[in-house]
Amino acid sequence: MRAHLITYGCQMNEYDSHLVQSQLVSLGADMVSSIDEADFVLLNTCAVRGKPVDKVRSVLGQLRKIKAQRPLVVGVMGCLAQLEEGQQMARKFEVDVLLGPGSLLDIGAALESNQKFWGLQFKDELHQHIPPAPSGKLQAHLTIMRGCDHHCTYCIVPTTRGPQVSRDPDQIMRELDTLLAAGIQEVTLLGQNVNAYGFDAGAKRAGYPSFAELLRMVGSSGIQRVKFTTSHPMNFTEDVAAAIGETPAICEFVHLPVQSGSNRVLRRMAREYTREHYLAHISNIRKHIQNVVLATDIIVGFPGETEEDFQETLSLYDEVGYDSAYMFIYSPRPGTPSYTHFADLPRELKTERLGRLIAKQKEWSAKQNARWQGSIQQVLLRGDAYSEGFLEGHTRGNHPIVVPRAVGADGPGVYQARVTATTPHMLYGELVGADGQALPVMASQQPEDAALISPLLML
Ligand code: SF4
Repeated sequence: MRAHLITYGCQMNEYDSHLVQSQLVSLGADMVSSIDEADFVLLNTCAVRGKPVDKVRSVLGQLRKIKAQRPLVVGVMGCLAQLEEGQQMARKFEVDVLLGPGSLLDIGAALESNQKFWGLQFKDELHQHIPPAPSGKLQAHLTIMRGCDHHCTYCIVPTTRGPQVSRDPDQIMRELDTLLAAGIQEVTLLGQNVNAYGFDAGAKRAGYPSFAELLRMVGSSGIQRVKFTTSHPMNFTEDVAAAIGETPAICEFVHLPVQSGSNRVLRRMAREYTREHYLAHISNIRKHIQNVVLATDIIVGFPGETEEDFQETLSLYDEVGYDSAYMFIYSPRPGTPSYTHFADLPRELKTERLGRLIAKQKEWSAKQNARWQGSIQQVLLRGDAYSEGFLEGHTRGNHPIVVPRAVGADGPGVYQARVTATTPHMLYGELVGADGQALPVMASQQPEDAALISPLLML
């Protein structure tokens, strides 16, 4: 079997795709890089916004046409598969295999069955399953929990991924061991709300550490860098900030979604915290973590958001001074309370507000990134940048960075780099040795190219 897997959505979907891909390979599949080469095409879907759903619909339409011309097995997995919306699509586009996020390990049974197969249960075995480490990589994801016990009114995740289930800490540490043995240098702990780890359905699981304790355990395992996502402010405790501050392996990067700066809107979103509560977390984070890099998520144009509410989001942005933000216009999703009960705002209004927020974000990102100018950063370089002779990667603070290849540092790895230029979206630098001196740039790399790369990459 030649299988092609297409992934949409978040890092949890990337992790799940890796898990299913490793199952397919263990069943003897060859993974191929295009639909044309494949006799099995599997889409790992996202349902959180309208756009990725439209994309899946369009690809399924193409696949149905191909199926009319040659044998092809089509599968849909992930969040959309769990929803009535996805199941209707599966019927319409003659999908053969449908696997919800809790039934991924049914992939073998689905392919063996040789007939239409729907797996939509949330199965416990998934929490015990340890996928093999990704090969030839320095970074990996590690799922520590699945599902979510919150019920934000705009979010479909509690329906698609079910209630929160924390993974057994022993399984997490065993999976971490496999990653370490494979040479992984940076691990990102994943969950819809990692701060609630160990407290499923609001109750502490006997024998499970808190998230802060888990961070300390992972951070002292020998791994170089630890990141995590996503956090809910409601469950973010000061102990988490303290664990980050005192554990060298845990990167000084906190992504804390605020969604809105207006208490009225936060209430309608059922976010369970106030602006004041959120800002208190930010001051705790700054108290415990030196040089912390802060990121957030913001939804613009939630139903009922007035200009005054939006101004409160802008003023909160100024008060925090985020390094970066993921900003979205509100996307009504069938099956969510906000879709059922609230009227959507006009698209032009939402787009106009998003434009103002993006301008604010660029201003702050430019200012915040400029503070790294001249500093030395630990960088994880993944491989070749778009421009020949350069490598790209990330700092501990999650800034994308590009550096010229240097003698002794001409491939993927963890290095030190001095930041030589910044933009709102990127850092540029040069690799340095332990003495802080710049390493000689590779002979093939002309110094004037380094001056060219910044404008090139900004295109
Ligand atoms: S915390 Fe809210 S937004 Fe996040 S997954 Fe849970 S319900 Fe959705």
